[in-house]
Amino acid sequence: MTVNDRPTAVVTGASSGIGAATARALGAAGFHVVLGARRVERCAEIAKEIDGTAMPLDVTDADSVRAFGEAVPDAKLLVNNAGGAKGLATVEEADEEHWRWMWETNVLGTLRLTQAFLPKLRASGDGHVITVTSIAALDFYDKGAGYTGAKHAQAMAHRTLRGELLGEPIRVTEICPGMVETEFSEVRFSGDTERAAKVYQGITPLSAGDVAETIAFAATRPPHVNLDQIVLKPRAQASGTRAHRE
Ligand code: NAP
Repeated sequence: MTVNDRPTAVVTGASSGIGAATARALGAAGFHVVLGARRVERCAEIAKEIDGTAMPLDVTDADSVRAFGEAVPDAKLLVNNAGGAKGLATVEEADEEHWRWMWETNVLGTLRLTQAFLPKLRASGDGHVITVTSIAALDFYDKGAGYTGAKHAQAMAHRTLRGELLGEPIRVTEICPGMVETEFSEVRFSGDTERAAKVYQGITPLSAGDVAETIAFAATRPPHVNLDQIVLKPRAQASGTRAHRE
């Protein structure tokens, strides 16, 4: 799918937040972007802006991933971005359904998309897998085991690829953001917007665009330059548990 001679970039979870901003940044960097998410109508609006292609995608559904993969004949870049958190609870009180959602979306979703696109990335002669994990993939915190566990597992799959793909024309980059203001906290707290807003109170968080620019930078380095892991946080955030609030 090299449209108007532009290389194809696939972005999962492109209907919102970091994924939507990444689709725009990669479009501006000269990619033909294929945007996938369940809310495909949102992807379609962005696709129209950047002359991209929107397609329905549920990363938790193997048939949906298969159909999505079959509809994209070639790709140079895959951005595994779809994901998120559900709930904030101690291990003792954790909701098994929340854990299942986080594993299905972040971990198995990344596995499914990576498996679907590796042959195409390889065939491009200059492929790239970028996975958006989190600082939650680097540390752990109270009430966060469902999310930190899923992000660690997603990161293990991603980081293992680096060695497995040595000698092949495929770069592998992990993006580990700290606090970014998106729909993330609304999803985590099941639509409780007041609780979600409190997460960003008294601090200037990263914007989705900040992360998208970083992803586009990694994607536009020359083929021999692999940015392995990029950690970016708001200036006022030191870790998953320490931040300065005004
Ligand atoms: P967001 O605004 O909630 O966006 C999440 C995206 O994932 C949406 O486009 C959503 O699309 C998609 N998604 C969720 N389930 C999906 C599924 N089953 N199939 C396909 N797409 C699905 O949150 P965000 O902050 O941009 O999150 C993007 C990534 O960054 C996630 O992996 C998140 O864990 C990571 N991250 C976020 C932060 C933060 O503070 N915001 C920090 C570090 C890492 P649909 O609902 O339309 O399917």
